[in-house]
Amino acid sequence: MTLALVTGSNRGIGLSLTRLLKARGVHVVAVCRRSSPALDALGVEVVEGVDVTAQDAPGKLLAVLGDRTVDLLVNNAGILVWETKLAPDLEAAARQFEVNALAPLRLTLALRPRLVPGSKVAMITSRMGSIGDNTSGGAYGYRMSKAALNIATRSLALDLAPEGVLVALLHPGMVSTDMIGGRGQIEPDDAAAQLLARIDALDAAHSGAFQHANGQPLPW
Ligand code: NDP
Repeated sequence: MTLALVTGSNRGIGLSLTRLLKARGVHVVAVCRRSSPALDALGVEVVEGVDVTAQDAPGKLLAVLGDRTVDLLVNNAGILVWETKLAPDLEAAARQFEVNALAPLRLTLALRPRLVPGSKVAMITSRMGSIGDNTSGGAYGYRMSKAALNIATRSLALDLAPEGVLVALLHPGMVSTDMIGGRGQIEPDDAAAQLLARIDALDAAHSGAFQHANGQPLPW
């Protein structure tokens, strides 16, 4: 793997993925809205000022890439807006849909000319987007946005297969990041290592499959 592009790279899981990829000797294009001291310290190619929902985001990234191809695209940027049960904030739901579902699809399609046979796309989803696994209710906006990402990823895996591009759909576990107030079951570096292991192992038979980063298959 020569070049990886990671969104949401300034903190959390995206920062850890960037750090681990860099440690492997991969050239990382670290995309974010605003960099952080931790990201700056990694010495990777930081691309700031990219809101993944902005109309000009794909164009900016294509310009930055030039004629370079992308071996790994990680659509990691995401938001979770907490809700009171049975009182979903529908505006927040729409925002989550934009960031978590539409932006990864738009970016992947836009960067398709830079993907080559053997390239991989990883979508960082959540098991909260699983219908079969939903036994606690609530979280309408987040759950709907990740379920939408999941079905879009399944289509992408099928549609990109003839081009030799594989697509991973991965739940990272409950990770101690800002998103869940640091109250996770696994540290970001450990989750990132598991995610990369799944991405390494991704083959045509598993493209478009919904998996936990620990390798467990997840129900749709
Ligand atoms: P964090 O809240 O720590 O980080 C979220 C990242 O996404 C930040 O870099 C943030 O950038 C970026 N981001 C959010 N909105 C945008 C936007 N509009 N444009 C560009 N970047 C944006 O969360 P995590 O690291 O935990 O989450 C990473 C992914 O993992 C998400 O997709 C999340 O849904 C998923 N996930 C996380 C779980 C967990 O337990 N933590 C569990 C299941 C899934 P900024 O600093 O600019 O806000």
